[in-house]
Amino acid sequence: MNNCIFCKILNKEIPSDFIYEDDICFAINDINPKAKKHILVIPKEHVESLNEIKDYNLIKKLFEAISKINKQENIKSFKTLINTGKEAGQEVFHLHIHILAD
Ligand code: 5GP
Ligand code: ZN
Repeated sequence: MNNCIFCKILNKEIPSDFIYEDDICFAINDINPKAKKHILVIPKEHVESLNEIKDYNLIKKLFEAISKINKQENIKSFKTLINTGKEAGQEVFHLHIHILAD
């Protein structure tokens, strides 16, 4: 999808460290971590933000993936964060859920 950085990462146009992948989403380490572990869980479908979601099953599947990723990474205590809209701090306009763990 056009100039979207996460679509480019998914399409391997930009290298990144995939730590998890399934049919629906993939996960990478944040390039500028704000916690000891800072993972981004990103749907493969280009959805700009929470405001553009049409099928809320996507959210369920992303949280199922988060559960698997946390088991894989041995993360037990964590925060999740979704920034929606520029004023709320969203920088990349392709929906993603942050996992933050110290
Ligand atoms: P937002 O502010 O949109 O919720 O979060 C975007 C996140 O993407 C930021 O934490 C930023 O550090 C991360 N990010 C931006 N560009 C890249 C990139 O090219 N690779 C990776 N791994 N993370 C990125
Ligand atoms: Zn995208």
